[in-house]
Amino acid sequence: MTRRWLFADQLGPHFLDEPGQPVLLVESKAVFRRRAFHRQKAHLILSALRHRARNDGVRLVRSESYAEAITEPVTVCHPTSRAARDLVRRLPGVHMLPPRGFVTSPEDFVAWAAERRSLRLEDFYRDARTRHDVLMDGREPAGGSWNLDAENREPPPRGATRLDVPAPPAIVEDEIDEEVRADLDRWEREDGIGFTGRDGPRLFPVTRREALARLRHFVEHRLPVFGPHEDAMLAGDPFMAHSMLSAPLNLGLLDPLEIVESAERAYRSGAAPLASVEGFVRQIIGWRDFVWHLYWFLGPDYRAENGLGARKRLPAWFDRLDADKVRARCLADVLGGVRDRGWVHHIPRLMVLGNYAMQRGWQPGAVADWFHRNFVDGYEWVMTANVIGMSQFADGGRMSTKPYAAGGAYLNRMSDYCGDCVYDPKVRSGANACPFTAGYWAFLARNETALTGNYRMRQPLRGLSRLDDLEAVVEQEATRRIP
Ligand code: SF4
Repeated sequence: MTRRWLFADQLGPHFLDEPGQPVLLVESKAVFRRRAFHRQKAHLILSALRHRARNDGVRLVRSESYAEAITEPVTVCHPTSRAARDLVRRLPGVHMLPPRGFVTSPEDFVAWAAERRSLRLEDFYRDARTRHDVLMDGREPAGGSWNLDAENREPPPRGATRLDVPAPPAIVEDEIDEEVRADLDRWEREDGIGFTGRDGPRLFPVTRREALARLRHFVEHRLPVFGPHEDAMLAGDPFMAHSMLSAPLNLGLLDPLEIVESAERAYRSGAAPLASVEGFVRQIIGWRDFVWHLYWFLGPDYRAENGLGARKRLPAWFDRLDADKVRARCLADVLGGVRDRGWVHHIPRLMVLGNYAMQRGWQPGAVADWFHRNFVDGYEWVMTANVIGMSQFADGGRMSTKPYAAGGAYLNRMSDYCGDCVYDPKVRSGANACPFTAGYWAFLARNETALTGNYRMRQPLRGLSRLDDLEAVVEQEATRRIP
């Protein structure tokens, strides 16, 4: 049987044709020379590769280039980036197979997209659920409703500092992690390879066994309470009831279909309520598959789109994850979470980090690159549509019907950050003006012309004319250095 070359994000059994298939893995230091990734992300990838190399029939080659490592005919599943796909096409003796690791096929997506003028997640998600018979009762959605978002937008429980859910099973590091840590230290010291963020104990799975343990624990203990507070934030509880499965899923250790089937079984057996299960299934079979297909479908130029003409560079404090310099409590906590873990859940990503970047007019491509490098689950295919389209509204509204811009009132409602903050979410000008509230108005003022035709922005834009201090707010935000 032909050897299967597995990229570092294709490590699970579903990337093989049968269990005993011989495998080639390539560990390339050059990847880390090209750009500075989060230290814990580098650790995760190397640890996952080296753990996978312990299996029978696996050849791990340490090589500067992929070309040097391919010394026999191999097959490979379609890689997840354009650069890797083009490389695979150029290498002799490499036969590329269709992609795996996603629920829906490129052919199905193209056929679905060809029938419509706008590409909306909700339509795609319903089509995917029907096609793959996930949470369906015949032709109808389970429980009679496709979308239970309205039940899943609760603020954090009043007075709580943490959600009452058991922590995921702890990761126990082993001798491979020790070796990876020593190698990364040496690369920094001797090869001048730079990383972002802080090193720390490994928090995410790198083996199939660890990933399955996390999946089982999540479905049994955390999924039942996942839904209602999935959009809420608590300073003392960065994980809330989130699955934290995105990292092992994007390493290819879990098959997304096995995840949604497991969640559906919890609903069918009465162990988890439909709203939680639907919200979770939507993240996997809806959003994840959707952004994967958009990465290819929207073409290579999509990443450079900049519909709002945002041209500012990322400031050094943000780029270097220097959370200690930040006084805005929400931003300091979230940026510190990225620095210390390489992970925060989807709302801090979208409504704190992405919102702040869009309000300031930072270059969308640079913001996407920042997310890609600093998140343990970040890959080019994940971050392109998520950041350019959804988070930064840089694609002229092809992905979202309106920008995800919000002021301090939203963050105050959905978190416990504002109480102890030096700023006041209700104040937009002066010494204690909340940078999100002021930034929101400054964003609307700057983009008034571009957003005028958007019917969902009519009401917020009307609010601009009612502000008697708009000029002062805009001036203040233009000169604010570190919030
Ligand atoms: Fe964040 Fe503004 Fe609330 Fe402070 S007041 S925590 S800056 S939203």
